[in-house]
Order: sequence, then structure tokens, then C-alpha cells
Amino acid sequence: MFKKILVANRGEIALRIQRACSELGIKAVMVYSEADREAKYVKLAEEAVCIGPAPSAQSYLNMPAIISAAEVTDSEAIHPGYGFLSENANFAERVEQSGFQFIGPTPESIRIMGDKVSAKQAMIKAGVPCVPGSEGELSDDPAINKRIARAIGYPVIIKASGGGGGRGMRVVHTEAALINAIQMTKAEAGAAFNNPSVYMEKFLQNPRHIEIQVLADKHKNAVYLGERDCSMQRRHQKVIEESPAPGIPRKLIEKIGERCAAACKKIGYRGAGTFEFLYENGEFYFIEMNTRVQVEHPVTEFTTGIDIVKTQIMVAAGERLPFTQRQIEMRGHAIECRINAEDPFKFTPSPGRISMWHPPGGPGVRVDSHVYTNYFVPPNYDSMVGKIIVHGDTREQALARMRTALNETVIEGILTNIPLHRELMVDANFMNGGTNIHYLEEWLAAHKR
Ligand code: ADP
Repeated sequence: MFKKILVANRGEIALRIQRACSELGIKAVMVYSEADREAKYVKLAEEAVCIGPAPSAQSYLNMPAIISAAEVTDSEAIHPGYGFLSENANFAERVEQSGFQFIGPTPESIRIMGDKVSAKQAMIKAGVPCVPGSEGELSDDPAINKRIARAIGYPVIIKASGGGGGRGMRVVHTEAALINAIQMTKAEAGAAFNNPSVYMEKFLQNPRHIEIQVLADKHKNAVYLGERDCSMQRRHQKVIEESPAPGIPRKLIEKIGERCAAACKKIGYRGAGTFEFLYENGEFYFIEMNTRVQVEHPVTEFTTGIDIVKTQIMVAAGERLPFTQRQIEMRGHAIECRINAEDPFKFTPSPGRISMWHPPGGPGVRVDSHVYTNYFVPPNYDSMVGKIIVHGDTREQALARMRTALNETVIEGILTNIPLHRELMVDANFMNGGTNIHYLEEWLAAHKR
């Protein structure tokens, strides 16, 4: 096992990884930008290294600064967390070339999954169902493209191979608009992602976002840890996540989960990963794979009792997965609310000093956050200041726990989206379960203030 790991991230996930290291008896070296000097995990750290000024480009995205921090502290491995450099194949490669273990999949896996066309092709080969669409990149031939669209059936969506963060996509409803839409998406993709390649898919009208968590080791073992429903989104950003997904038969989840685990073995995947699907009319359609730990991993940790971050570290050190698929049991229901420093209904960011931080507690309540009373939320990064996760025997109990937890929470000095979460937890349709990816935006439009 490693003796020392460098944590190349910030915020709640930096603290989460620090906690996992502490439990494993591993020293965690924390890095921080000048804006993050006051973070809780920096204060708790035995060793912390300043890697640059506040802007991410000069600190958390600064590969030479991070690698030299690992060198000067004699770290053996680097945990990239999520966001920043976590899905950058070049970073993973440089980490390994510098003699450190990258806590994640191989650079090749990251590269294949980072390009949506190659990811889809790999998934089709591995037997994972995908959204019907073009076989790879679209050519410049209008006649061929029209034929592809007709075969798929309108509406279709044109997507950039190198796209991400919900950008580089265009929905087309009629043949008259097709050729122009392809040209425009290509031009935008070239400018935004330095890669003009685009592909075509059937546009699903009212899907849910369902994802499968996987864990794999370096010995060709792979398991799935059930699903998460992340359909409550605003601008393609997840707001609430839960597991299990309400109303989806277990048999269907098991079938798709087994396919994902089998795909991991086939492509030589290692570490934690998430297969994201759109789910409509009883069918799953793969859209992309995240090759890292996700924000919403605690939901699965609650239902399976498995520590995903500790397992990531153990398999990176070469250990075998300590459980088989048959030993994994899902119990109860878990829900996560992401707590953002923002106006709850206008969504303008609200950084600043937190004058009072009183998190909730009690049975089945978990709070992952790096903030505390008198902490200053810097304006430079993502607005998420923490997550409240609850677990109950049933979905009803989990919902009741979340309501109690949200009512107990006191955060003063900044605005947060807790008032929005309080309203959603008593919304009749959300309480019924199974709302689709458009539901939250429609709800917000109907509850404008
Ligand atoms: P990104 O990497 O930019 O997040 P994704 O491929 O994961 O892109 O898609 C982001 C979102 O766009 C999905 O969650 C879904 O809301 C929408 N989307 C993508 N592909 C389709 C599709 N074929 N049909 C309907 N919606 C889609």
C-alpha cells in the first residue's frame, strides 16, 4: 500500500480523499491555490503545498506545479478527484512518466472515453446499448447524412465528438434544417474543442438520466454497484441524485449493470467509473463514461456500504477488489442534495464569508463539506460548498430525513440553494419519483419569482 498520496484537487472532494487516506493509514499531501489557504483540509494536513495563484489555469490545472509538488513531498501516487485534470489523458500520462501512480484508469482508457465517437464504438463492441445513430463521425456528403437521419428518424441530435459540459449539441427536427445544423455544429466544435468532428444520434424526447457505478481492479475483476438516478438537472448540471432509481425493475438494472461490468473487463478498465445512460420506455442508451470518482458517489456508498474512494486507492496500489458481485447488496434508499453558494431561484453565484455554518446530523445523515463558520467561499471556482446525503429504509423515509436535515441546516453570510431543495422535497411529482431530465427546468419556469 502507498505511504503517501498527493491530492490534486480542492473543496469537498479534497477533504473526502484526505479522510480515506487517513483511514487507510496513508499520509495525504494537500495542494492549494492562494485562494484556498483557509480550507479545512489544508489546516488538517500534515503537509500542504501551495501550487499557485487563485485562477485554476495557474494552480489546479498547472501540471508541472502539481507534479513537482509530488516530487518534493516524496508522494507515490496522485489522486485527481473530479473536474480539473481528472479526465485529462495527457496528465495521467505525465504522472506515470514521472514515476507516480495515477489513481484512475490508464491514459488509454481515458483517451478512448474522452472522445464520444470512440467511446460509443468501444461500447457497441463491448455489448453496451447505445443511442441509435451514425456509425462514427459524419462525412461532408449531404446525401449520405440525409439518408442516415432518415434511417434514424427525426428528431435527431448533432453532437461534437470532443464535446463536454453540455456544449456542442444541436437538435434537428426536419430534413430542411439538417445540413445547415451539421455545418454549424462542426464550426462551433472546431472553435470550442479544437476538433470539428461531429456525429448524429436519435434525439430522445423525455428520458431519465440513469448511471451505473463500476469498480475494477488490475486483475480483470469488475463489479457494478447499482444505479443512480440523476434526472433532476438544471442546464445539464445535476442538482439532486438518488439510488435506487424509482420504478425501474431490478431485473433491468441487473442486466445493464452486468453489461457495464463486462465492458470494463473487455476494455481493461481499472478504478472507479460511471456509465451514463438515458433511459426511456424501458430501454437504456449509453451516452458517455466518466473515468473518475463522481460528486454523487456517496449515494452509492450509503446503499452498498462500500467506500468507493478507499477502493480506488486500493486497486491503484494493485490490490484485488475485496468483494465479488454476489457479495454486493443494495439496502434502503439514499438521496443527495448538492448545496451551492448561489441565489436559490435566480442562480447568481454568492461567494463570500460564511458567518454561520451549522450542518445537520442524526441517523442516516452525512454531510461532505470543507467549509466552516468564518470560512470565505472564493469566487474563483465551482459554487458547490457541500453535499447533504441521507439514507433510509425506504424512499419515503429518506425524503423525510432530507426534509429534517434541510430544516436543521443554518448557513448565514452567503445565499445557498437550500430553499430550492426544501421546496423540491415536498413537490408532489418529485415525491412520486421517476421525473425526467426536463422536469426541474419546467418546474423552475412554472415557479418563477
Ligand atoms: P456532455 O459531455 O456535454 O455532458 P452528454 O453526451 O453527456 O454531453 O449529454 C449531456 C446531456 O445532453 C444529456 O444528459 C441529455 O440531457 C442531453 N442529450 C445528449 N444526447 C441526447 C440524445 N441523444 N437525446 C436526448 N438528449 C440528449
